[in-house]
Amino acid sequence: MARLKKEAEKVENSCIFCKIANKEIESKLTYEDNNVVAFNDINPQAPTHILVIPKKHIEHLADINLELSNAIFSAINKLTDNLPGFRVVMNFGAEAGQAVVHLHFHILSGRKMDWPPG
Ligand code: 5GP
Ligand code: ZN
Repeated sequence: MARLKKEAEKVENSCIFCKIANKEIESKLTYEDNNVVAFNDINPQAPTHILVIPKKHIEHLADINLELSNAIFSAINKLTDNLPGFRVVMNFGAEAGQAVVHLHFHILSGRKMDWPPG
């Protein structure tokens, strides 16, 4: 049990999104509550490109409880309220292009988007 806790701490100490959530790395937060933070993507793929993440280091959807799931969708709802159109993307796994292994939701808006996504 102690070994597992140590392993988890190691992951969190090296996770860039944990550092942003813990404010160890400076980033302009566009939204924050007890469970989630949102900030602008460093390499935006659209005029609006916001990342919504749980504050806690979570890697799998299976580890999201109801409270957190409500917090994530409520944050997305607030952040998209004034947007005429937007897309929410969650990449999972290398094949889907996931680079940061801390669950996150991209909000993209401000340009015409193609379907299916590339
Ligand atoms: P993924 O490909 O894992 O779904 O998306 C990770 C996203 O995180 C990418 O769009 C990338 O630009 C963004 N990102 C990676 N490192 C940082 C960072 O240090 N700060 C910010 N604001 N965004 C980051
Ligand atoms: Zn993390």
